[in-house]
Amino acid sequence: MNNQQAPENFYLYPNKLVETIFHSTTEGIMITDAEMRISLVNSAFESLTGYKMEEVRGKTPKLLQSGKQDASYYKKMWEDLKNKGVWRGEIWNRRKNGDIYPEILTITSMVDTEGKLTNYFGIFSDISNKKVIEKELEELTLTDHLTSISNRSSFNELLFNLITDSKNSPSKHAILFIDLDRFKQINETLGNEVGDLLLIEVANRINTVVRDSDIFARYGGDEFLLAINSMEHQKEAVHFAKDIIKKLNKPFYINEDEIYITSSIGISIYPQDGVEVEELIHKADKAMYFAKQNGRNQYAFYFEELKRDSKRLLLLEAELRKAIQAKKITIAYQPKVSVDKQDIIGVEALVRWTSDKLGFVSPGEFIPLAEDTGLIIPLSELIIEKVCLDILDWRKEGINKLPVSINIAALHFQQDDFIERINEIVMQYNCSPQQLELELTERTVMHDSEGIVSKLIKLKNMGFKISIDDFGTGYSSLSYLNRFPLNYLKIDSSFIQRITSLKDKQAIVDSIILMAHRLHLKVVAEGVETKDQVKLLKEMDCDIIQGYYYSKPIPSTELLDFLELWDIHKQEGNI
Ligand code: C2E
Ligand code: CA
Ligand code: CA
Repeated sequence: MNNQQAPENFYLYPNKLVETIFHSTTEGIMITDAEMRISLVNSAFESLTGYKMEEVRGKTPKLLQSGKQDASYYKKMWEDLKNKGVWRGEIWNRRKNGDIYPEILTITSMVDTEGKLTNYFGIFSDISNKKVIEKELEELTLTDHLTSISNRSSFNELLFNLITDSKNSPSKHAILFIDLDRFKQINETLGNEVGDLLLIEVANRINTVVRDSDIFARYGGDEFLLAINSMEHQKEAVHFAKDIIKKLNKPFYINEDEIYITSSIGISIYPQDGVEVEELIHKADKAMYFAKQNGRNQYAFYFEELKRDSKRLLLLEAELRKAIQAKKITIAYQPKVSVDKQDIIGVEALVRWTSDKLGFVSPGEFIPLAEDTGLIIPLSELIIEKVCLDILDWRKEGINKLPVSINIAALHFQQDDFIERINEIVMQYNCSPQQLELELTERTVMHDSEGIVSKLIKLKNMGFKISIDDFGTGYSSLSYLNRFPLNYLKIDSSFIQRITSLKDKQAIVDSIILMAHRLHLKVVAEGVETKDQVKLLKEMDCDIIQGYYYSKPIPSTELLDFLELWDIHKQEGNI
């Protein structure tokens, strides 16, 4: 055996010299624990893969897989590692931006004094520049290797030609920047291979609306560009965008998975938004980002104010990153009231952030941004930590078992180590899962995968309660939800807000409550603001009410006063 013995903890507490060498070498270095969870990477790793240390810590190197090697390749690698303690070979990996690249990689297993496996040590160098792939690159210069449509440089060239030919004519062209929403999650949950197959299917579907004279290309990752040649009117671009969104909204069937995706499209127009290729693409990209921020699954045209908006986004991201590091977020709690006994039966934890530079920022704005940038993982963990700390504070005041529900973002839930991490945090603060509820949206659990069911069962067995949040805004399939071990169903506020005026909304809420009860789920109505709504919901046999009518979300300290006053008012018969 070639196993290396690691000086005890040397890489966790590197001395200055080792640290300097570690970070200055041009080879990427990655150290994992025995379970292959990354514990340390060096600067070269960060620049070669595009992932920062904090993004990969705790994840497995699967994150880097390109899907180019098959299972037998990895099987051989594991055999070598087991038998010889070391493996060396050429492997295609994937950078954070989606590019794949070849590397030469050596992995060594490390053991402790008793011979027990403690870590793996991987060292690699990027060989994309080597001759090996020169030939492949040649082919790649015009077509995208995955989807076989044009690639980025080919698009740039073709659009340049189109613009040059239009110089002396009144022609108008539209540039559509098409980006899949939450594609990263699909890659992470179903694997890059499925992700790749999906991209091929997406390209095929878009291709059905493309005419011979148009230019259609994959721009990189999950981004596609379409230039619509010679439009009479801007409306034509709208027609194309709507058509594409509709086509991509239909389910995709890949291997055994039924996959739902949406897309966001940004549109810029030649010549009004620009006469240079780069500027037109840039503006279409900005408009796409706007469409995403605006709720995804839609298109948007470029408009001048976007210049300012993109600056805000950059600032938001940077400030949010800092806020998470400094743990400068707080939690507000909104009480939930039982309809029968008028008791406060729990509270929902809602994150609050006031930035030094930007002032109060609504979670409606920064949560989607955090989801897009991956910041949602550290942010979500911080939220859980803060909730646990508040629970400890309440205990000191004699409030021991108040249930707290926490919103769980899809990307967070889909992490392989979600259960371990949440358990770790809850245990660390000596809190009990019995006191916690996890709110998941339909979209989060809607992937047709067994993994999700077993994850939910595990969580339930640990003691967590599970709620489906925003019910009615997604697929709204109660029969589907039947497969999951759920406790609560939260009807989205958009239904509640109109039950007193619209008969059809009333009928929907009525039947949701009926069916939920048949599935033994308790129903929470969200966003309840008026007495009339409360009355109606009571008649419909709704179980729990949450909304401004009873209380806005309030800071932890105010909550204690609120609970005390509530009891007094109740005793006096004022509620
Ligand atoms: P949500 O989970 O549906 O949360 C309910 C939202 O409705 C909250 O907005 C709450 O303040 C608001 N609300 C409650 N009662 C009423 C009412 O009577 N009328 C009206 N008009 N609104 C009411 P908020 O806090 O701005 O949060 C917005 C969304 O951001 C949340 O929707 C949730 O999706 C997300 N979010 C908030 N906090 C967290 C968090 O800690 N983690 C995650 N992952 N997402 C969060
Ligand atoms: Ca919620
Ligand atoms: Ca909700």
